[in-house]
Amino acid sequence: MANDNQKAQGHAAYLIKNGMRIALAHSITGMSWRSLRDLWDDAHGTDMPPPGRMPCSTVAYIRAGQSQVALSTLVTVYLSLEKEYQTPTDAFISAWESTRLFTDKNAPLDINAAWYAVRDTKAGRVAWCKCKYCKAGYFFDAKETRKKSKCPFCGSMGNALNGVTLCA
Ligand SMILES: [Zn+2]
Repeated sequence: MANDNQKAQGHAAYLIKNGMRIALAHSITGMSWRSLRDLWDDAHGTDMPPPGRMPCSTVAYIRAGQSQVALSTLVTVYLSLEKEYQTPTDAFISAWESTRLFTDKNAPLDINAAWYAVRDTKAGRVAWCKCKYCKAGYFFDAKETRKKSKCPFCGSMGNALNGVTLCA
């Protein structure tokens, strides 16, 4: 078990350093709030308190300015990696690292939004589809109909392929 603990600690330190909220890091790694708080202080200094209330769904994060294109890209990468990696956390960290390289530095991706995008896609809280024109995978608010969905990559309307679901 010592190995698992070390692994969880390594994941937690990485996620917290990248700005993940303690509540989320807790649910992902299972580490105690106290240890996570210590990791936060180590990474960000005691002057910066952990963020409090923030959006808690993918759709809310997009409304708050997160890029639907970047988040959709991250989910696509995650879904392709998921089967190769031992744990969802490993797959997520890898998807986060590769997507972050391609995102606009002026509109940085929020790791909390990234986690919600993966979680909400897996849970079916957002609808996941593939664009007929450009074949990019993207998600949209599950309350919207497919006809009203607009591909964030090429801008075409209502061209999601019927019934395409990439996540198991
Ligand atoms: Zn498209």
